[in-house]
Amino acid sequence: MQGSEKAERIQELAKRRGLFWPSYEIYGGLSGFVTFGPLGTVLKHKIEEKFREFYTRPLSILEIESSVILPSKIFEASGHVEHFKEPMVECTKCKRKLRVDHLLEEQAGMSDTETEKLNLAELQNEMEKRGVRCAECGGVLGKPKYFMTMFTTTIGPYSDALGYGRPEAAQGIFVEFRRLWEQARERLPFGVVQIGHALRNEISPRQGPIRLREFTIMDLEFFFDPNDPECTQLEKVETETLRLVRAEAKLRGEKEPIEVTVKEALQKGYVKAEWQAYFMALSKRFLVDLGVPDEKQRFMEKLDWEKAHYAAQSFDQEIYLERWGWTEVSGYAYRTDFDLKRHMEFSGVDMRAFKEGRRFIPHVVEPSFGSDRLVYVVLEYAYQAKKDRVLLRLPRELAPIHIGVYPLVGKDGLPEKAWQIRQMLASEGFAAEYDESGSIGRRYARADEVGTPLGITIDYDSLKDDTITIRDRDSWKQVRTHIGQLVDLLHAYFNYKKEFEDLGQLVRD
Ligand SMILES: [Zn+2]
Repeated sequence: MQGSEKAERIQELAKRRGLFWPSYEIYGGLSGFVTFGPLGTVLKHKIEEKFREFYTRPLSILEIESSVILPSKIFEASGHVEHFKEPMVECTKCKRKLRVDHLLEEQAGMSDTETEKLNLAELQNEMEKRGVRCAECGGVLGKPKYFMTMFTTTIGPYSDALGYGRPEAAQGIFVEFRRLWEQARERLPFGVVQIGHALRNEISPRQGPIRLREFTIMDLEFFFDPNDPECTQLEKVETETLRLVRAEAKLRGEKEPIEVTVKEALQKGYVKAEWQAYFMALSKRFLVDLGVPDEKQRFMEKLDWEKAHYAAQSFDQEIYLERWGWTEVSGYAYRTDFDLKRHMEFSGVDMRAFKEGRRFIPHVVEPSFGSDRLVYVVLEYAYQAKKDRVLLRLPRELAPIHIGVYPLVGKDGLPEKAWQIRQMLASEGFAAEYDESGSIGRRYARADEVGTPLGITIDYDSLKDDTITIRDRDSWKQVRTHIGQLVDLLHAYFNYKKEFEDLGQLVRD
């Protein structure tokens, strides 16, 4: 299966089974917006919950929810008004507006590292030299100019009260630093996370669920004393290996990652802040748990001209996707004191922390994920064809439906018995789906393609001796067990305390 074919199949499955689909279809759709359906919403929430399990609980990180619309002053202070822009060009023939860097990457084989370095005049020069044309109609392109990619609005009835849709959730944390510092009992280090929608007015997004104009961001800002930058959690991750492509290697044109432990990466100065290395190690484990093996992950250090304006050192965590190649799923920016300092200057309010008579602006490291993109990543790594059927091998804790419940036939008291079991499982907190339509084989197939790990079948023997069969999504094996033990067994299975073979007597291979 080719990469693009797999991507199409996943998107077809996503539409058909209610994971996600392009928004506003009845009005012709609009690229860069997707709607998560019933199953996709559950999957996305589970990924976000896993993020909390990995990042926020071990360090008692505080979670907040701030607004999506912010007054312009905040983004003037943060530097976004000046820097948050992309080079754009208009086709003289069809009038479409396209991203210059993407055109140069697609038509002239330039890398994003090369294009990001160039100013408008240099971009134009490259386009002319390499004969770049409109990607849609082949027409001649005009002069490139910058387009600010924040959504702009006015707040209330005053046209001069300019506001922006937030392109990141981080600023909603920085501007509340005084109150958050109080909530953290005025002690460093502490972290604050925000999971919510963000908006980026992308010029011409054409990558389905990978590049969205409205998406869910998970921003974690971790504040620490620059004079006391030691990570207290380091021993939990120091032997973890990271696959890094360092900036200086990129300059030499190397793309192969080096493999180093967290400890080495810090000793050799590859990663500057200990807390940043800690979060990178967590992220590797987080993605492994989401189904992405180590060798399909890498961390790319950003070059000076690729970094965001606020960052002293940045890495992108990239995952290999068959259709889109190496794709960023998260960013690690060492933002230093940049944001708090700027808000202090622009607001006139003291944003410093204090410790033993010393006043200073805390430093910040930031891991930042997009959860929509992670949904796609999870689907791609779970998607498998088995005997021309689709099998979504989702990690069991991420599956939107835990268990299918099936009466073998729709008569003779089997549906009633099955429904009873379904209700019992629901009251125990399992997402259990009752399904009696079609042959049992078709019901299994429907459950397999949305990744339901287990199926319970109620047959005539169930009425006599209170036993049922449990079927495994991945191996299609079946075991027989007693209904009285079912709830305990399933809790143990979904908490990874038991494997499928431990759930009963094997009756079918
Ligand atoms: Zn055109």
